[in-house]
Amino acid sequence: MNELEQRMNILRAAMANADVDIVAIAPSDMMRYLAGYASYPDERVCMLLVSQHTAAAVVPALNAGEWRAHTNLPLHIWADNEGPQTALSAALSALDVSRIRRLAVDGEMRADFLLPLLKAAGNPEVITLAGLGAPLRLCKSSTEIELLQAAAAQADRAMQAAIEACRPGVTEAQVAWAAEQAFRMNGADYVCFTLVASGPNSAFPHHRSGQRVLQLGDAIIIDIGASLNHYKSDITRVVHLGEPSPEFLKAYEAVLRANEAARAVVRPGVSAATVDRAARTVLETAGYGEYFVHRTGHGLGLSTHEPPWIMAGNEQPLEEGMVFSIEPGVYLPGQFGIRIEDIVVVTASGARVLTGFDHQLTVKR
Ligand code: ZN
Ligand code: ZN
Repeated sequence: MNELEQRMNILRAAMANADVDIVAIAPSDMMRYLAGYASYPDERVCMLLVSQHTAAAVVPALNAGEWRAHTNLPLHIWADNEGPQTALSAALSALDVSRIRRLAVDGEMRADFLLPLLKAAGNPEVITLAGLGAPLRLCKSSTEIELLQAAAAQADRAMQAAIEACRPGVTEAQVAWAAEQAFRMNGADYVCFTLVASGPNSAFPHHRSGQRVLQLGDAIIIDIGASLNHYKSDITRVVHLGEPSPEFLKAYEAVLRANEAARAVVRPGVSAATVDRAARTVLETAGYGEYFVHRTGHGLGLSTHEPPWIMAGNEQPLEEGMVFSIEPGVYLPGQFGIRIEDIVVVTASGARVLTGFDHQLTVKR
C-alpha cells in the first residue's frame, strides 16, 4: 500500500466512526496530502470529494489537464460558461451514497464553494474536518522527515545570506531580499515569509520588514521560511550590530536556555504543554515571563503552521514523527526583541533538531 492509500484509509476509518458520508476538500495543503496534488486555488469551484468507498474531483476545465497528469481520480469537469452545479451533482451521484446525511469540509473551503456543494448534496448536516478527529498529517513519515530536513538545510543557507546582508545603512527590506534570493537560488518553490525586525521593531513579534534603516546598536530578529518540494521551513536567529549591552546579553542567554530546556524535554509521551512549560519556566525564573507573549511552537509540514500546537493547555502527548518549532522569545517594548527558533522531530528517545544553524548570537562589529 502506498502512502496516499494509507492516508485515505485513516480518513475513511474516521469517517465511518463519525458517520460521515462525504468529505469535501478545497485546493489546499490537505488536498495535496490526500490526493498527492493540489491545483491553483482561485474562485472556480474545485474540490476533492471522498466517500467511505470511493473518491472523485470536481475540476474547472482549465485545470483538467493538470489533474489528469497528477492523479487517477475520476474527474467531473465544468466549463466557465456552464458553472459548477451540474458537475457537483454528477460527482456526488458517482460517489454512490444513497443519501448524504453528514458531510465534513476542511477549514480552507470557501463559502462560495460550500454553498453550491450543500445544494447539490441536499443540505446535509455539516461538520469540519478537524471535528472528524482523523489523525492526518500529525506524525510525519520518514519520506516527509527527509523533505523537512532538506527544507531546513535550505533555510540555514538563506539565514546565512540574510545575516551577511546586515550592516548599518541597509534597510530591513533589503535584508529580507537577500534571504528571498538565497531561497530562490537554492530551488525553493516559493518564499513564505521573510521577517526582518530591527531596533525597536524587534519588540514586535510579527513585524513586517519595512524601510527602516539598520543602525549601530540594533538588535535584528530574522525569521524566514520557504517551501521546498511542498514542505516548509521556519527558522529565527538574532543579529546585533555593534557591541550588545549587558541587558541584551542577559536576555539572549535566557532565551537560548529556554530553547535548550524545551528541546531537552521532548520525547514520546510527554505532552505539548510540558514543552511549553519547560521554555516558560526558564524565562519566568530569569524575570522575563511577562515578555514571552506567545506559545512556544507550532507543527510544521505541508503548512508552516499546523498541529500540534506547543502551548499551555494542550495535553496532547507527543509521538514519534511529530515535527514542530521551538521558538521562545522575549520582547521588551521600545528596546529590543529576541527569538531563537528551531524545528525538531520527535524520535523514539528524544528530539532531533532539523535546524542546523548555530545558536550563538551573531555580533557584527
Ligand atoms: Zn518563524
Ligand atoms: Zn515558527
